Amino acid sequence: MQTLVADHPLVAHKLTALRDIHTESPTFRRLADELVTLLAYEATRHIPVEPVSVHTPLGTAEGVKLARPVPLVVPVLRAGIGMLDGMARLLPRADVGFVGLARDEETLVASTYAARLPADLTGREAFVLDPMLATGGTLETVISMLVARGAAGVTAICLLAAPEGLARVAEAFPDDLPVTVRVVTAAVDTHLNDKGYIVPGLGDAGDRLFGTI
Ligand code: URA
Repeated sequence: MQTLVADHPLVAHKLTALRDIHTESPTFRRLADELVTLLAYEATRHIPVEPVSVHTPLGTAEGVKLARPVPLVVPVLRAGIGMLDGMARLLPRADVGFVGLARDEETLVASTYAARLPADLTGREAFVLDPMLATGGTLETVISMLVARGAAGVTAICLLAAPEGLARVAEAFPDDLPVTVRVVTAAVDTHLNDKGYIVPGLGDAGDRLFGTI
């Protein structure tokens, strides 16, 4: 697994505001949306393109267009929904699948309650949106679903990651797998607390995006 921590002053600035306990939901949603677009720029660096020429007003220019099949974007319910618009802004033609996982707050084990994914992902790039890479259990499950369907590459975009979660995903998807697995994040924090929250983190991303229900 490859990890990329986006090292950019705008990313750091927006993440700092996102972490702030005084940042309320409307601002939190806007910042998450903007941050995803910045992370998506890095996350799509390896996306396949094919050559194309276009007529400009003055001549012909050689360029590229995104190769087919179109990528699949998979927000993990519920908090990943807060990242979808920011990703779709960069990849408007991507298809969107959904996976829902709920974490048992006692055992910290996540179980799947919804999955709407294409049966065959052969040759397709997949992008998983999950704001918090905490224990890594959710991400391991979702990436496994995409790899099992034949995805050519899987890139997870996480606003924040914990070392424990990164280690778990790296162990589950070693570098010698035929499919490349990447994690792109704005920062790696120090540790998880005993409730599985990232410290210092930003709290419960789903609650901060959508309220406590
Ligand atoms: N999920 C969250 O929303 N926050 C954390 O810190 C960990 C998991």
